[in-house]
Amino acid sequence: MRLRQPPLIPYTSITRRVQELADQISSDVSVASLQVIVVLKGAVFFAVDLLKYLPPVGSVDFFKISTYIGNKSRGKVDVQYLPTDIINAKDVLLVEDILDTGYTTSFILDWLSKHSPQSIRLCVLIEKMKPRVVSGIKADYVGYRIEDEFVVGYGMDFNGMYRNLRDIYVLEVGNEDV
Ligand code: 5GP
Ligand code: MG
Repeated sequence: MRLRQPPLIPYTSITRRVQELADQISSDVSVASLQVIVVLKGAVFFAVDLLKYLPPVGSVDFFKISTYIGNKSRGKVDVQYLPTDIINAKDVLLVEDILDTGYTTSFILDWLSKHSPQSIRLCVLIEKMKPRVVSGIKADYVGYRIEDEFVVGYGMDFNGMYRNLRDIYVLEVGNEDV
């Protein structure tokens, strides 16, 4: 296994792009009452940077689930942390690292919408350009659209590793790994 060089997205680009997203968000919504919900763990680096470029937000909270998409039995969701801030009648911004199949995000969006928010916006760092297993999910803010490759760094891990890299890399699995 190795990191493909050069990085797919260098941190200099990420920094610029995250500022642009923050500008878009603050021109769309009243940030002072915004409830920011960050999906653990992958989106933490992204969310911290995004929050640095936003004016003071109403609150920052977290969501953590694991989804299992093995054996054709999608549907197993293990909820590990739920937001404790009140969402009712608030504008919510969900911050996620990657929109891949859409399964994780759709579960979280469903949960949030059951708690009567005034609005929900979805902000993802990366959207993979492929058909979603769960259709109908559209991110309001997308940092980058990439090919269907496995990426690590800037919060995104492989078995816990590579999360703290400042750049984003494609992780290549070679013959020696299988
Ligand atoms: P989905 O439920 O949309 O298929 O998956 C979304 C989650 O799967 C992401 O939040 C992320 O945790 C994980 N994931 C999907 N693609 C990648 C990838 O390329 N790299 C890493 N590190 N995680 C990924
Ligand atoms: Mg994730």
